[in-house]
Amino acid sequence: MATYDVIIIGAGSIGLPTSFFLAKEKLKVLVIDELASAGQGQNKTAIGGVRATHSDPAKIQTCQLSLEVFSGWKEEYGDDIHFQRGGYCFPAYTKAQEKSFKELLVTQKRYGLNIDWLEADQIRGLLPGINPVENPAEGGDELRGGTYSPEDGNVSPLLTAKAFYNHAKRLGVNFKFNEKVMEIENSSGQGLASSGVEGPRVKTTKDSYLSGVVLNAAGAEAREVGKMMGVELPISPDSHEAGVTEPIKLFFKPLVVDTREIPGSKNIYFYQEVDGHIVFCMTPEPIIPGFSRDSTSSFLPQMAKRLINLFPKLKNIKVRRVWRGLYPMTPDGVPIVDKVKEKNGFLLAVGFCGQGFMLGPGIALNLVSLITKGKPLLPEDIFKSFSLYRDYTLTSEALK
Ligand SMILES: Cc1cc2nc3c(=O)[nH]c(=O)nc-3n(C[C@H](O)[C@H](O)[C@H](O)COP(=O)(O)OP(=O)(O)OC[C@H]3O[C@@H](n4cnc5c(N)ncnc54)[C@H](O)[C@@H]3O)c2cc1C
Repeated sequence: MATYDVIIIGAGSIGLPTSFFLAKEKLKVLVIDELASAGQGQNKTAIGGVRATHSDPAKIQTCQLSLEVFSGWKEEYGDDIHFQRGGYCFPAYTKAQEKSFKELLVTQKRYGLNIDWLEADQIRGLLPGINPVENPAEGGDELRGGTYSPEDGNVSPLLTAKAFYNHAKRLGVNFKFNEKVMEIENSSGQGLASSGVEGPRVKTTKDSYLSGVVLNAAGAEAREVGKMMGVELPISPDSHEAGVTEPIKLFFKPLVVDTREIPGSKNIYFYQEVDGHIVFCMTPEPIIPGFSRDSTSSFLPQMAKRLINLFPKLKNIKVRRVWRGLYPMTPDGVPIVDKVKEKNGFLLAVGFCGQGFMLGPGIALNLVSLITKGKPLLPEDIFKSFSLYRDYTLTSEALK
């Protein structure tokens, strides 16, 4: 039976960078995915926003690592993954928004993040054409200013998946596609296969494999894979829709998040990628739980109205394509990255909600350290935010 140091279930936002960084450490790695090629799960539904400006220190430090990987990728490995350090901008139109952004700034600055409050005229400079008064006919709100974090950015999830896959393959990672993991058998000891210690056995629709460590990186299906590991994971997907326009001349750089909750949607976020396409996404209100990925007829009319209210000059732009994907949600909006205490050789990197793409490379580097050194790269008291054994009612991150 083929034997590996690490078997990764899922060639997605987490599994791909993890396979690459493990192979760089010369480990023998197998990645199994039920889909036909790399990044075909939720990775390709992400729009590619990457920010370190969170409020949870573990997410902040993990995304700082990710930003280092994304921003340095072209120089170090040669592929253009369309990284743009355009920043994130949260415009404020209401007093409540201004108050909550300014309160959050205090925490974010305490963690050393480069983020500031900009006045309305500075926001207008950053986002030419942004509506100074929204819905004037309806007595709408005036642009009050907003926050801006210039070191955040955006990057193409499709190009990134391709780059991680190609480099991982070149380093010897074995990929099995169109193959679904059906069963995982526990075993007595954890150890890297190269050290001769037998670990879990993974059975798929086609074959069986033996490994020192099995990583559950199964995204929206992580709960099912958790059951195979004998662990109940609090992960339930809900769906979000996104789309892309025709390309137009570049006119703004930041990823814009409009957090005003209006009937039907909690927020929207969008940016203009390097070729001029505007990529956009909406968080529905109420959430739509479940696995359905069929596009709805309500998304585009709602999204278009919000986008044009914010940027009236976009009223004639053509939408090229829309899609719907899943956020693998945990109860507190924070992922689970941990060893399963009761089961030797079982590792989890699941529940990435709406942030799995941006967390991916940073999580991968921590997983490599967990596997090879027994502890994460981040300080353990910070990394424990991601513990499987935490109290899920205590922390609460913005679910975007
Ligand atoms: C519309 C939308 C926009 C988003 N925008 C962003 C964004 O801007 N920034 C960001 O950071 N995140 C964003 N996200 C979230 C992001 O897409 C996810 O958090 C991330 O892709 C999850 O990564 P993952 O590796 O856990 O899952 P995936 O990328 O889905 O990978 C899991 C893989 O596991 C495979 N798998 C599952 N079960 C099995 C099995 N039994 N056997 C074999 N293979 C299996 C699946 O086929 C899949 O390929 C967005 C999501 C949506 C829906």
